[in-house]
Amino acid sequence: MKDSFGREINYLRISLTDRCNLRCEYCMPKDGIKNKVTHDGMLSLEELYQVTEAFVNLGISKIRFTGGEPLVRYGAVDLMGKVGELDGVREVTLTTNGILLDQYAEELVKAGVNRINISLDTLDEEKYSLITRGGNLHRVLAGIRRVKELGMKPIKLNTVLIGGFNDDEICDFVELTRDGSIDVRFIELMPIGEAASFAKSKFIPNSTVLEKVPGLVPIDREDPSSPATYYRLKDAEGKVGLINPISCKFCANCNRVRLTATGKLKLCLHSDREIDLRRIIREGGDLEQTIENAILTKDEEHHLENQEYIKRSMNSIGG
Ligand code: SAM
Ligand code: SF4
Repeated sequence: MKDSFGREINYLRISLTDRCNLRCEYCMPKDGIKNKVTHDGMLSLEELYQVTEAFVNLGISKIRFTGGEPLVRYGAVDLMGKVGELDGVREVTLTTNGILLDQYAEELVKAGVNRINISLDTLDEEKYSLITRGGNLHRVLAGIRRVKELGMKPIKLNTVLIGGFNDDEICDFVELTRDGSIDVRFIELMPIGEAASFAKSKFIPNSTVLEKVPGLVPIDREDPSSPATYYRLKDAEGKVGLINPISCKFCANCNRVRLTATGKLKLCLHSDREIDLRRIIREGGDLEQTIENAILTKDEEHHLENQEYIKRSMNSIGG
């Protein structure tokens, strides 16, 4: 499926829920989301499967489940397994905060989930509890150990760079890549949703990583649609990725669209424009035709640099 700029759209990111078992400072308000979506407002698991099938029929081959925290949604792992069995799906992946990973790791592997990204902003127990407002680092570390034991490789850690909070841990995170099964990707803070002001005050550019670890050597980009630029320590097997959603644009190679838990199709993370696929399903409309038409309206690029901030929070978009 091509958009009107000739980009092959083959990657769908599905947010299974806007709920989460953590309250990261840059993502969620302290008391959780204000306007909780009703049960009926969310796509049911059957509807999620139906929409995903339509996307796959149109050429989506890579699917990532995210959220909110995808593993808090009852039935999530079964859905991942079913989606993985659809003809045409090459890859099913998951982004999780890792809190429930130890519990679900075996089921996820059995369901055929190919790769797991785990979000981890600090390796310090107290700081972890602070930034996530109450999370327990040991549960995440147990989850990482478990998926490693199960042979999943590479395990990608997503670390959001937060000025004055974890810039002193950059070297420690990079050191983790000496373990062959771990890649670390540093992500710049984005001014999104209710936590936009937090992001603006704590933003530090990814170039900080290269300043702190001059031994990082650039390596070839394996996947041109990946938002990350990759580096490696000379004698390490794992990679270090830098994702610069603000200081660098990767729109020209964009191959992705997003589906929110409420059934809204988002053609770009940095745009508030949404297409309501839930209404199409419930009114018995033509899903595939609607998706095809929508894809043709995907913008050529985002203009985040001119924008104050995106209204929806990351947890509801599906990060
Ligand atoms: N709950 C899961 C997790 O934390 O991995 C999946 C959803 S979370 C929204 C996905 C990713 O978005 C996480 O790596 C998180 O750190 C990142 N994220 C959330 N808000 C962000 C922001 N304002 N700027 C940059 N990354 C953000
Ligand atoms: Fe939850 Fe992930 Fe947002 Fe943290 S970043 S509050 S874990 S959705």
